[in-house]
Amino acid sequence: MIPPISHKVNCTPPPETRRRRCWRVAASLFSLPVGDPELAASQFKMLSAQVPFLYIILLSNAVALSFTHFGTAPNTLTLLVPGLLIIISVWRLVSWARWRHQQATPAVLLRRLRGIVLAAGLQGAGFTIWALALFPYGDAYAQCQVEFFMALTVICCNFCLMQLRAAALLLTVIVTVPFLIFFLHTGRPALIAIAGNMVLVNGGMVLILLRNHNTFTALIISERQLTNRQQETQHLSDENLRLANLDILTSLPNRRSFFAALDQALTRAARADTRFAVALLDLDRFKSVNDVHGHAAGDRLLTQIGLRLKRLASSQIFIARLGGDEFGIILSDCQMDADIFDFGATVKLALQSPCVVGDRLASISCSIGVAIYPQAGITAEELFERADYALYFGKQHNKGGIIVYSDEHETTIRKAARVEQAFRVADYESEMWIAFQPIVDVTLIRVIAFEALARWESPELKSVAPDVFIPVAEHTQLIGELTIVLLRKALAAAKIWPPKITLCFNLSAQNLGSADTMAAVRRLVQSSGVAPSRIEFEVTETALLEDFDQAAKAIAKLHELGARIALDDFGTGFSSLGYVHRLHLDKIKIDKSFVTDVVHNRTAPAIIKTIVALCQNLQLDCVIEGVETEAQLRAVMALGCHHIQGYYLSRPVNEAALTRLIEDIAARSFTTAPAETEPQDA
Ligand code: C2E
Ligand code: CA
Ligand code: CA
Repeated sequence: MIPPISHKVNCTPPPETRRRRCWRVAASLFSLPVGDPELAASQFKMLSAQVPFLYIILLSNAVALSFTHFGTAPNTLTLLVPGLLIIISVWRLVSWARWRHQQATPAVLLRRLRGIVLAAGLQGAGFTIWALALFPYGDAYAQCQVEFFMALTVICCNFCLMQLRAAALLLTVIVTVPFLIFFLHTGRPALIAIAGNMVLVNGGMVLILLRNHNTFTALIISERQLTNRQQETQHLSDENLRLANLDILTSLPNRRSFFAALDQALTRAARADTRFAVALLDLDRFKSVNDVHGHAAGDRLLTQIGLRLKRLASSQIFIARLGGDEFGIILSDCQMDADIFDFGATVKLALQSPCVVGDRLASISCSIGVAIYPQAGITAEELFERADYALYFGKQHNKGGIIVYSDEHETTIRKAARVEQAFRVADYESEMWIAFQPIVDVTLIRVIAFEALARWESPELKSVAPDVFIPVAEHTQLIGELTIVLLRKALAAAKIWPPKITLCFNLSAQNLGSADTMAAVRRLVQSSGVAPSRIEFEVTETALLEDFDQAAKAIAKLHELGARIALDDFGTGFSSLGYVHRLHLDKIKIDKSFVTDVVHNRTAPAIIKTIVALCQNLQLDCVIEGVETEAQLRAVMALGCHHIQGYYLSRPVNEAALTRLIEDIAARSFTTAPAETEPQDA
């Protein structure tokens, strides 16, 4: 019967026969490290130290054997054959001495290892045949010498070849097998005993050799693994260090590397007695990009800016991102101030072309503050602080420019420190008072509101302007406390005013950002006895942008209360009417900078006119502040402004002067000549 055909393919390999396994084991014993160049190199290194000894011992033993047989054995055996064998050995010895100090490729090393195995076989066979051929010519002593020559030489050679198993084993087999057979055939018990002894010793040697070879190989492999692991660890640690010093978003060096580079620059400059500059670069109005277009757009913008700045970096210019929209620069080569301004111009040029912001293109400018070593400071902290101050100063006075820290800044800093010190210990209740400046409807000829303006009479510093102490109050986080005291005082004054007069009160960015302060403000309004509809809070665009969501919440709650909100200093910031719409603001105060130019300049009137028209369209109230002269008043009136604030109408005055002021204003006429008397400035 035909057996059914199995469709299954038998994948298991046929069992290995015994003979085949023996061959495989034997072949592996005589194999060379073909695929392992490192092992081959280690073996070669060990052998190149030992093989010369092998030849020296072999040569001296051979010379001794020839010498003792000279005269008794034929010259062919005492001179010619050993001479040839010795010449070959000397040639090999010299070759080894040469190779010891040579670099070789893995292929060459492997060829040399193969050469040793071959030499062990051929030279082993040559010396064995020669020694056994001498045997019949000697007396009993000389015959013993032959036997000892062979036994000891093979042991010694095995020792020297221990790291190369194939060579040592081949030599053992080639010498020991004929040796044993030969001496067994002599029939002399002493010689047979010596031969047996030698075979036993050689057997032991082979076992030790095999173990030793395995240990040696394992050692090399573990050494290699250790090296690999060390390399891997080093690589990981290098990568870690690189990432730890890199800003992920822009791939520029980060804050940490900036300070490390600053320390290095300081050491270099101190040693070489040279100058260098530390510059801090801050993008103008970056925050509004984040607020308006979202953080993803902000990140994209930073990436683009980072890329452009990166192109400016060189061995002399180190540029890092310090965080947010702030970048730190170290200019190693700046012997003259002109170098700094040149660099500033280069940066401006690099940032000039528009970046993608959200779904449109926008140009972004930057301000740069610079501190020069050693004039501005001699430590990293000093230099950084001063560059930061120059930047801060630049942001306030020269946005989009480059400011180098100078002695003048030093004086300002000292003064600011004194103000801060005094402000921290000030008693707001007794030292702070409110000045009021009227906002006048020049068509109705009456005061429609008073803006409350904070005044500080410090026992130590005397009169300090709000432009000075309000930023200090913000910086020291004391503005919340101060605002509450000022508002209480302002509300107490407003309580007795005629009901048609509004109280305008300034809120700072930090007020809007603090839920606690805003809750206290609302409580104060509710308990003041002044109708919330008579209260108008003035906020600036920058204050809104500080934390737009929080500001929007605060404004909504003030609206809920019934209070009104005015956008102060309009025209100095982004001048976006978008906020007005989104936040349902009630009024716009056109900044005084437009009024200064209204008489002589063509642009200012055009801008004012547009804003007034927009306010009319959006049904917003509009106040223009900073009117100082009759000409300015006429000009702004002609542009459609009717609600006016400014020194021409009145400077801010103290509470006691208000009743008189209301009457004075009502008695003035604004279409003809101005009133002659003006209230005293507070
Ligand atoms: P602001 O809110 O824009 O106030 C108007 C400033 O312009 C006042 O300066 C006022 O005296 C001044 N001013 C009014 N008319 C004229 C004019 O015709 N010409 C010129 N050159 N200036 C005029 P002041 O009182 O020194 O206040 C400066 C700033 O300090 C205020 O600017 C406001 O931002 C801040 N400030 C004042 N009081 C407070 C307050 O109680 N809280 C907060 N957060 N800020 C306040
Ligand atoms: Ca104001
Ligand atoms: Ca203002």
